[in-house]
Amino acid sequence: MAPSAKKDLAAAKKTSAANASSVVPLLCTLCEHEPVFTDTSHLLTHISSKGHLAHRQKLELRSRRDPESQRLITIYEAWYARYGVRELLEERQLAKDQAEEAELQGRKALKRTRKPKVCFLSLLTSPSDVC
Ligand SMILES: [Zn+2]
Repeated sequence: MAPSAKKDLAAAKKTSAANASSVVPLLCTLCEHEPVFTDTSHLLTHISSKGHLAHRQKLELRSRRDPESQRLITIYEAWYARYGVRELLEERQLAKDQAEEAELQGRKALKRTRKPKVCFLSLLTSPSDVC
């Protein structure tokens, strides 16, 4: 794929994810009591949580023999695809990775600019000054 096509694809994905995030219903249809969230970030945190992931796996494992589990999984996957939840999670992970990289680079730059530590022993005039 040509570099410009990759840029167009990336821009299109970003736009669709941005549009999706503005309309994504802030609830989890998979978990018990269908929890509702105050914002997209809170929703994405829930979707990445151990509790949600464990519940999802449990339903997926039951889905072959339990029609209700299959129904919940189907509804959830349709919601996940329709509102571009994967793209939202990818954007969030990318932002976290970039923040971690910037922090690491900042620490490295700070380490390079620090003055070397002076050993107080080198300031003594003669070996007899050392106790
Ligand atoms: Zn959930």
